Amino acid sequence: MGLRAQLAFLIPGVVAASVIAFSVAEVRNDQREELIEFRQRNEKVLQTIGVTVAVMVAQNDMGGLDTLVAQLSDSMRERDLIELAVVDDRGTVLAHSVPERFNTTLRDDFTLKAIDAAGSTWRLENGEYHLSIPAVSGIRWATVTARYSLARVDAQFARSRLRFLGAALGLFALLASVLWLSLRRLVLAPLRQLHDAVGDMAEGHLSVRVPELPAGELNQLGTNFNRMAAALQSERENLERTVAERTKELQEVNARLERLAVTDGLTGLFNHRRFQESLQTELLRSERHKRPMGLLMVDVDFFKKVNDAMGHPAGDDLLRRLADVLGRDLRQTDLIARYGGEEFTVILPETTRSEAMQVGERMRAAVEEKINDGSPWPTLVTVSIGVATFPEDGKTAEELLESADQAMYIAKRQGRNRVVGSRGAVTM
Ligand code: GH3
Ligand code: MG
Ligand code: MG
Repeated sequence: MGLRAQLAFLIPGVVAASVIAFSVAEVRNDQREELIEFRQRNEKVLQTIGVTVAVMVAQNDMGGLDTLVAQLSDSMRERDLIELAVVDDRGTVLAHSVPERFNTTLRDDFTLKAIDAAGSTWRLENGEYHLSIPAVSGIRWATVTARYSLARVDAQFARSRLRFLGAALGLFALLASVLWLSLRRLVLAPLRQLHDAVGDMAEGHLSVRVPELPAGELNQLGTNFNRMAAALQSERENLERTVAERTKELQEVNARLERLAVTDGLTGLFNHRRFQESLQTELLRSERHKRPMGLLMVDVDFFKKVNDAMGHPAGDDLLRRLADVLGRDLRQTDLIARYGGEEFTVILPETTRSEAMQVGERMRAAVEEKINDGSPWPTLVTVSIGVATFPEDGKTAEELLESADQAMYIAKRQGRNRVVGSRGAVTM
């Protein structure tokens, strides 16, 4: 616990203990002083009457002595007196506030001691106070003894004890309240804040932080908690960032792999596999929507001659140029692929037979014009194109390919560099 918290508990405790100790001491002290005063006051009274008593005894005025004792005891009764007696040196009662005791002999301890004592004597016994003084006039003539009740004085003590106790209790209640408030502010409230923060964190809210706490150790605990939460939070953010980065990289690699898997390495066109997939898809779509679809099979004429005359790398280069020219004027929905070797295929969705023938013718003309323009090729580079359309020339991929292939071979037979429809239509 921090110094402030320790003081908050220590100070009320010390003050409460001091107040109680002080109260007890104060009550005791009061009691002692009150008794001393009680004795001094009554001693003075007795000494005052002692002289008169001595004179009366010396003159043997027993009647006067009796009257004096009766009057004194009457007036002193209000002042706690129980009984008043005058005895001679043998303990014989010369006068007594209880007249029947006259001439009896008092042999109790106190009276015997009082007769022997040179000065005043006192004794506290069973809530009563015994006091005696010698009655002297020239010589000692008698001893005056008095018994007082301490009931009134005790009641006074009790009252003051009660007062002190009340004050101490009040103070104690005040200190207890202060203690409770301190406990709540310095310990309970911070503990609750820590408890709530830990609970939030357990539910995954890593952004939770404990505010500055008033108590030293708890504040230290809160600071450490905040550091831990910050570390966990940044760790999680790092992790999330890393996962996001890795996921993005993985997606890019996957996309690249996917592209590679469907791309022809030499020309960059779609490969045979992708062509087959797309042909199936487009056929299904055309069938469902009852729409026409065209398929072109393009074969380079006398390609072998290029390889033979200029080598395969030049042949490769020609294939790349052809791919570029063939794909140039297509619509976005059309798809061109390298079918294999020096053969290309083109899928033309939403295309009728005559439109497909036109597209084929445009391609043929583009090759003839663009590829041979200032070309190094040993021979005129041309293509033969077979055209098949759905649904006339086939309903399945195989049937359509077969039709297009046959048309392409017819084009070869008819002299190459031409477009032939699968039903014999020819353009040139
Ligand atoms: P035709 O007009 O009858 O089609 O004659 P052609 O020479 O084009 O036909 P053929 O089928 O006899 O020859 C095709 C040649 O294409 C054979 C092969 O060496 C060549 N070839 C196939 N693939 C490639 C390739 O990727 N690169 C190169 N440089 N040549 C290829
Ligand atoms: Mg061929
Ligand atoms: Mg060929």
